[in-house]
Amino acid sequence: MVESILEYEAWVRMSAFMAVLVVMASLEVLAPRRRSEIPRLLRWSNNIALVVLDTVVVRLVFPVLAVALAVVVEDRGWGILNVLPVPDWFAFVASVVAFDLAIYLQHVMFHAVPALWRVHRVHHADLEFDVTTGLRFHPVEILLSMAFKLLVVVALGPPAAAVLLFEVLLNATSLFNHSNIRIPDGIDRALRWVIVTPDMHRVHHSVHGQESNSNFGFNLPWWDRLLGTYIAQPRATHERMSVGVDDFRTRRDLWIDRMLLQPLRRDTRARNQPDDGTTREMEEETPIA
Ligand SMILES: [Zn+2]
Repeated sequence: MVESILEYEAWVRMSAFMAVLVVMASLEVLAPRRRSEIPRLLRWSNNIALVVLDTVVVRLVFPVLAVALAVVVEDRGWGILNVLPVPDWFAFVASVVAFDLAIYLQHVMFHAVPALWRVHRVHHADLEFDVTTGLRFHPVEILLSMAFKLLVVVALGPPAAAVLLFEVLLNATSLFNHSNIRIPDGIDRALRWVIVTPDMHRVHHSVHGQESNSNFGFNLPWWDRLLGTYIAQPRATHERMSVGVDDFRTRRDLWIDRMLLQPLRRDTRARNQPDDGTTREMEEETPIA
């Protein structure tokens, strides 16, 4: 069982990723939520280049990733779930839920700690919100996030299959909840009880501080509701709201070299300034020295 998980891990990940990407990208064409104004080629080529780079970097830096580490941890009997006499099904479900809570808390920290925000800001600075936004993370964020996941694996002792399922789910829901698709209101409301929907997560990508400091969940929508970080809808409506970050609003900022260097650049405007509620236009293409 364990050997087969490791053997098929890459295949499971890749096929789930490609399938969800193709389905979401097709739905974005058939039933878009917002009109896109930036050429897809510009954003997609740079966002996809970034995720390819992330995948290479994380494999080069870590000798072992989360699923393989879970096999080792289980073998040695480390972690809470390997010590407590709990049934297998409970360990499996508890692991997936605990991982989701851990990722929610990590996301809150990426917003709360200024140095972490600089890294996570790259994800928020995308000027549109579509399936490839869900892939756009700075390599340093991917490395920190993997280090955190490895710590959770050692502390928790989850079944390897639960870690694989969680990672595949997280990847799939990230593609889903960043996608620019129109889901009828009634269906969206029902889905929101069990999964973070694109309308729910779009609020988190608002330029307005109060809205971007809400809806931190990726998979399960419960943590935001339980911990008081839930905002149901954006003030400006989904069609009219501005997504992104105030400081990085030129097309040049969407290129991969700018994304990689962005954590070194300061916010010129204070975060959490009182929002004036206005819609942000894209800035002129002024070259930045
Ligand atoms: Zn965020």
